[in-house]
Amino acid sequence: MKLPVIIPEIRSQAWSCHGCTKCCRELIVHLTRDDQKRIDQQQWRSKLGVAPYVKHPTGIVLNHNPGQGCVFLLPDGKCRIHAELGMDAKPFACKIYPFTLEREGDAVRVGLRFDCPTVTKSDGNPLPSHRRELQALSDKIGKDLPALYRPDPEAIAFSAALSIDRGTLDRIVGRFDKWIGDNRRSINDRISGLVSVVSILNNADAQKFDGPRLAELIDMLVNDLPAGAADGGAPILEPSRSQLKLLRQAAFAYGSFIRFDESRMGLWKSMRFRLAQLRHARNMTAGSGRIPSLACDDIVATFENLRAVRPIAPENSRDADELLTRYLQARIANRGAFGRHYYGWPVLAGLNATLLALAVIGWFARRSAAGAGRDRLSTQDVRDALMIVDRSAGRSPELGARSSRLRLRYLTQENGLQRLIAHHAIVSDA
Ligand code: SF4
Repeated sequence: MKLPVIIPEIRSQAWSCHGCTKCCRELIVHLTRDDQKRIDQQQWRSKLGVAPYVKHPTGIVLNHNPGQGCVFLLPDGKCRIHAELGMDAKPFACKIYPFTLEREGDAVRVGLRFDCPTVTKSDGNPLPSHRRELQALSDKIGKDLPALYRPDPEAIAFSAALSIDRGTLDRIVGRFDKWIGDNRRSINDRISGLVSVVSILNNADAQKFDGPRLAELIDMLVNDLPAGAADGGAPILEPSRSQLKLLRQAAFAYGSFIRFDESRMGLWKSMRFRLAQLRHARNMTAGSGRIPSLACDDIVATFENLRAVRPIAPENSRDADELLTRYLQARIANRGAFGRHYYGWPVLAGLNATLLALAVIGWFARRSAAGAGRDRLSTQDVRDALMIVDRSAGRSPELGARSSRLRLRYLTQENGLQRLIAHHAIVSDA
C-alpha cells in the first residue's frame, strides 16, 4: 500500500539529527516483530553479551545498560547497529524519530515530536527536504505493517455531540493556522484569541450546528477577534487556588513518566518507588516548600522561587514567540492535538488539552529558571519545558485518562484555562 506523505507546513521549522543521544538515553523504544527478527538474525545477543531487547509493561523494547541508555549506544554517541550495519538495519522507531506517521484518508500525515532538542531549536534542514526518506519509510510500513495504516473513519468527532467530515476539519484547522501564524500580532494576542474562540466553542450548543455552520462560526469568531490585547476588555483574574492545584497535578502527570530503569525494578523496589510517587504527587498538590523530584530531570527548586520568576521581556521574546508558534502549528494545524495523534480525543477536547499544556510549559519553564537561581525566563527554559511536555503529550496513559478529561472540563469553567495561561505567561505583554 503506497500512500503519499503530508509534510507539516510549519514555516521556519527545520530538523537534522545532531547526535546529542538524548533519544537513545531517555526514550523507551518499542520494537515491531520485524525489528526483533532482524536483531536476532544480526546475532546481537552474543555480540553484546546482554539481551538486546526485553519485555516491558507496554511491549517489547530495546534494552538499556543501567543508567546509560540503549544497549546499542556506543561511548562516542553513535548507534552500534548503524555503525556496523547501516541505517536500514536499525529498529523502525529509531529510523523514524522524531517524526511520526499516521494514516489520514488516502495519505499519511507526518507528525513532529518536540522532545528532540534540534526540533525545538529548529536546527537543520527544512522539513520538506526529508520527504524522500519519510516516503520510503511510509511505503515500508504500508508493505510490512499494513495494520498500522488501517483506514481512519470519514467522520471526525469535533465534540461529544458533533461529528465533522475531513473537508470541514481542513477548513477549521486552516483558519486556526492562519491565526496562529500571523506574526504581525504578539504571541500573547494570538494565544489569547485562541483561548477566546475555544471557550466560546466549549459553551456553544453543539446540537445547533452541522459541520459547515461550525466552520462558518469559527471563521466569524476568529475574524471578530480584537486587534490586540489592549482592546481585549476586562483584565484577566488571577487563577483560584483549586485551578492552580489542578495545574500542578497536570504538571506532575507531564513530568513523572516512568524511566526504563524504573520499569525494570523488582517488586520491593517498585513498591517503594510507587509510594515515593504518591508522596511526590501529594507534595505537588500542596504546592509549598521544595518542588518534589520529577522523572523528567533533576532540577531542584522551591514553589516560592518558581512563583517569583518573571516572563521573558518583550524585546527579547522573538525566539520564544517563534518556538511557541511552531509548536502550536504542529499541535493544531498539523492535527497533533486530537484524534489518532492524541488518545483518539475529539478536536475540542484536544484543543483544551493544548491550552492547558501552554500553562504547564510556563510552569516548567519557571521551574528551570528557579532551579538555576534566575528570576527571569529564558528561551532555553521554554525549550526545556516544551521537551518535557511534548514527551508525555499523547503518550502518557495518565494524560489520556478520564481524570485528565475531568480536570479539563473543570478548567473550562470560570475561565480557568485563560487565567492559568495568563498567570504562567512566557512572554510579558508590551
Ligand atoms: S534527540 Fe534528536 S538530535 Fe538528539 S540524537 Fe535523538 S534525533 Fe538526534
